[in-house]
Amino acid sequence: MKKNEIPYKIYLDEQEMPKQWYNVRADMEKKPAPLLNPATLGPMTAEELAPVFCRELVEQELDNTNAYIDIPEEIQEYYKMYRPSPLVRAYRLEEKLQTPAKIYYKFEGNNTSGSHKLNSAIAQAYYAKKQGLTGVTTETGAGQWGTALSMACAYFGLDCDVYMVKVSYEQKPFRREVMRTYGAKVTPSPSMTTEVGKKILAEHPDTTGSLGCAISEAVESAVTREGYRYVLGSVLNQVLLHQSVIGLEAKAAMDKYGVVADIIIGCAGGGSNLGGLISPFMGEMLRGERDYRFIAVEPASCPSLTRGKYVYDFCDTGMVTPLAKMYTLGSGFIPSANHAGGLRYHGMSPVVSELFHQGLMEARSVEQTAVFEAAELFARVEGILPAPESAHAIRVAMDEALHCKETGEEKTILFGLTGTGYFDMLAYEKFNDGIMNDYIPSDKDLEQGFAGIPKIPQNQ
Ligand SMILES: *Cc1c(COP(=O)(O)O)cnc(C)c1O
Repeated sequence: MKKNEIPYKIYLDEQEMPKQWYNVRADMEKKPAPLLNPATLGPMTAEELAPVFCRELVEQELDNTNAYIDIPEEIQEYYKMYRPSPLVRAYRLEEKLQTPAKIYYKFEGNNTSGSHKLNSAIAQAYYAKKQGLTGVTTETGAGQWGTALSMACAYFGLDCDVYMVKVSYEQKPFRREVMRTYGAKVTPSPSMTTEVGKKILAEHPDTTGSLGCAISEAVESAVTREGYRYVLGSVLNQVLLHQSVIGLEAKAAMDKYGVVADIIIGCAGGGSNLGGLISPFMGEMLRGERDYRFIAVEPASCPSLTRGKYVYDFCDTGMVTPLAKMYTLGSGFIPSANHAGGLRYHGMSPVVSELFHQGLMEARSVEQTAVFEAAELFARVEGILPAPESAHAIRVAMDEALHCKETGEEKTILFGLTGTGYFDMLAYEKFNDGIMNDYIPSDKDLEQGFAGIPKIPQNQ
C-alpha cells in the first residue's frame, strides 16, 4: 500500500457544510437558452410555469444572475441526516491499476434511496410544503428518483404520485415496494389513468414505456388536480442548483488537504449529478481562476451529447412540456430494451448542453459490457457495489488512470460515484452469465428520433 498522506475518507464537519447552493449560470457569459412555450415559442414566463412547478422553484429555474442561493435551514437540517457524503481516496483502485494517478470519488450512495437524487428531492418537497400544496407527481425510470422523492414526501407529509416506466415497474418490484413503504402511490406508465397515457397505449399497445411517456403522464396528473405540482429529478436548472451541494462539498474537502483535481468525471443521464459535481469547479474556470478537464460519460446506446443534435426539443414523449434547448436524440427516441445500465433519457440538461457546446467540457460514450467490467473490478477492490449509471464514470476514470500509467503523469482524477446498485442485480446477472452485449444504434436508428424534433424557426 501507498503511504496515506491523505486519509481514505475526507469528511467535513457539520459546520463546514455548504449553506448556499452555487448557481453556475451566474458565471456563464453566454447563458443556457430559455425554456420556450410550445404554443407561442416565446420564453416561458414565471406565470406560465406556475401551474406546473412550485413558486420558489420557478424562481430558481429562471435565475441566471444570483451566483449563491441560500439553502433554507430546514433543508440544511435534513441534509445533515445523511450528509456530508464522503470524498474517498481510491488507494486500492490505484494500486490495482498500477497507476501514478491519484483517484478520488465523491460517494452519494449512503442513503436509502441509494443515490444523489435525495439532494434535490428534499429541496423540492420542502418548497411544495411551504407553498401549502397537498402533493407532487413525478416519473421514475430505474426508480432512484421515485424512491428519493418518496422519502422526502414522507419527511414533509406530502402525497407522492409516481409514474414508473412499465418495464422497471415489472423488473424492479423491490424498488416499487420501497416507494410504497415510504407512502408513495406507484402507477406503471403508460397507464389508463391519464389522457396522454391512453393515447400512447392506443398507438403502441405493447410499449414497455419510457421516461418521456412517464413525464407526460405525471405532468398531466399534476396540472389537472388542485393542490398538486409536478417535480422532476434531473435536467432542470433548479435540480442542477440543488445538486451543486455535491461539488461544493467535494471542493471544500479537497481544499482542506490542498488537493487540486486535474480531471473531473461524471456520468450523464439528464446531467444533474454531473452538473452539480462540476459546478463550483466550472465556476472557477469561467472566472479565469483555474483550468480543469471535465468529462461527461454517457452510454453508447443513448448517446445524446456525442451523437445528438443541439436544438429545441420536448422533454417528454407526449409533447406536453415546454421546449428546452439541449443535446437530444428526439423525444420519441426509446433506447434498446437490451440496454441495462440506466442513463436512458433522450435529452440533456440545458446548462450541461450549453457548457459542452461552448467547448468547456468533453463527452465520451462507453459500451455497457466495458461499464460492467469496470463496475465489477471497482466492487472487488473498493468494496462498494456501484449503480450501473455510476459505473460509466468509473469506466472513464479507470481509462484516464490507465492513460496516466502509459505516460507516467501523476494526474489527480475526481469522479462522481452517484449510487449503489443493489436493485440492478438483473443487469449484473446478465453480465455475470456472459449474456450481456453491446447495442449501438445505427445512424438510421437515430434518424427516427431526430425526425420527431419540432420544426420551429429556432431550430432552422
Ligand atoms: C439518476 C441517476 C443518475 C443519472 O442522472 P443525472 O441527472 O444525469 O445525474 C446517475 N446515477 C444514479 C445512481 C442515478 O440514480
